[in-house]
Amino acid sequence: MTNYTTNAINLKAYNLNEADKIITLYSRDYGLLKCVAKGVKKTKSSLGGKMDMFVANKIFAAKGKNLDVICQADLLDGFIPIKKDYTKLSYAFYCTELISSFAVENDPNSKEIYDIFYAVLEYISTAKTEKELRWTVIRFKLSLIEEVGYAVQTDFCVKCNNDTDDFLNFSIEMGGVICNSCKRKIYKISQTCPESIKILRSAKKIQTPHEKFAYDMIVSTFNLLRDYLSFRANKKLKTPDMIGSI
Ligand SMILES: [Zn+2]
Repeated sequence: MTNYTTNAINLKAYNLNEADKIITLYSRDYGLLKCVAKGVKKTKSSLGGKMDMFVANKIFAAKGKNLDVICQADLLDGFIPIKKDYTKLSYAFYCTELISSFAVENDPNSKEIYDIFYAVLEYISTAKTEKELRWTVIRFKLSLIEEVGYAVQTDFCVKCNNDTDDFLNFSIEMGGVICNSCKRKIYKISQTCPESIKILRSAKKIQTPHEKFAYDMIVSTFNLLRDYLSFRANKKLKTPDMIGSI
């Protein structure tokens, strides 16, 4: 049995038996992990609240035949402000669902994905307004989708690679902007959304939303990316509806 150490954020927990839980985690060194947290349900367990959703720990684990066993966890960040605020909680759930949808074991980009995930939980913790929350999650989605190989193209037309035309249209199937002349030629559905394309370009570069971007346009862009990521994940994600219901 080999032991290993890695930083990891909890994604989900299932009851295994009276004392133990199975935890899925996203780890910085190995991508997706599924481990047993032994004795976690006992009141005196040192793992206790450290195995809750989107808590980040440095874990010490032992390789098992089927599932690895978490022996110890040193808390890195519990992201407490998220747990005290239902709006923040719903955005954090959504980011966690996205990570779960695209995560794989032994992911070659695990360090980058872990860092993006950790950073978005930090930003959600400190965000003051829902505009900031939406912006932060737009940036997270753009970074995550790039790491998993489906980057959103905003600088060149995805059909003709031209960067001289005005970009007014976005195609979910093709993953980026489409110039007006290509829009006339192709039959794939694209949306005409010049403001969202400006927001996507800005969000790739800037940490906080510019005042000129109205909240409803940020919501439209958030939803455009929601549809693109659902398309790439090949399933309808559950948690965006939770955000829409707030
Ligand atoms: Zn074109």
